[in-house]
Amino acid sequence: MTPYSQVKEQIAATAADCGRKPSDITLVAVSKMHTVDEILPVLESGQRVFGENRVQEAKEKFTILKEKYPNLELHLIGHLQTNKVKDAVALFDVIETVDSIELAEKLAAEMKKQNRFLPCFIEVNTGSEVQKSGIVSRETLSFAAKCRELGLNIVGLMCIPPVDDEPAPHFALLKKLAKQLNLKELSMGMSNDFPIAVQLGATHVRVGTAIFGQRNYS
Ligand SMILES: *Cc1c(COP(=O)(O)O)cnc(C)c1O
Repeated sequence: MTPYSQVKEQIAATAADCGRKPSDITLVAVSKMHTVDEILPVLESGQRVFGENRVQEAKEKFTILKEKYPNLELHLIGHLQTNKVKDAVALFDVIETVDSIELAEKLAAEMKKQNRFLPCFIEVNTGSEVQKSGIVSRETLSFAAKCRELGLNIVGLMCIPPVDDEPAPHFALLKKLAKQLNLKELSMGMSNDFPIAVQLGATHVRVGTAIFGQRNYS
């Protein structure tokens, strides 16, 4: 079995264990730092949803891949600088990391301009970490209201728990906030904790290392 099919199977088994349908959970295969040659076999296995965290890198790898696989769905899962909004709206299909008013305004304007109204997630900084982007939990409700006023299509919330914390309380908090906002989608869980996230209601898990192996940052 390939690492990819193992991840798929673990999602299906965990979903079944807690009475959920495997099809209710979307695997976002996080291919950042991996090459087109590494991505192709996963595409050939049937995977169509991918996550990248940098606009330029994603553009280089996925412009051609999207022509070849028209139903490929590309998620932006990293912080978006406002000067890259134009390229991001043109390339990506889902923006998971709306993390400031300034970005929300720029995205709303650019989506109108391009007539591409992409589904968006609000990134919530559930651990209130100063070095991390995202909206702190107590401001999420008012931030979501502002995004909706701007006309952004907010479909859910995403979070990246602090590395040294148990993830479960962060996932539970994200779910609670989504419920208060009547939002259906929850992007939470990575290689180390996606089964817990599925148990706690994730609709999207973002898995890189468990599919593609370690990233080489050197
Ligand atoms: C890199 C990354 C992931 C994937 O992490 P792995 O531990 O390799 O599965 C998921 N979400 C975000 C936001 C990331 O930047």
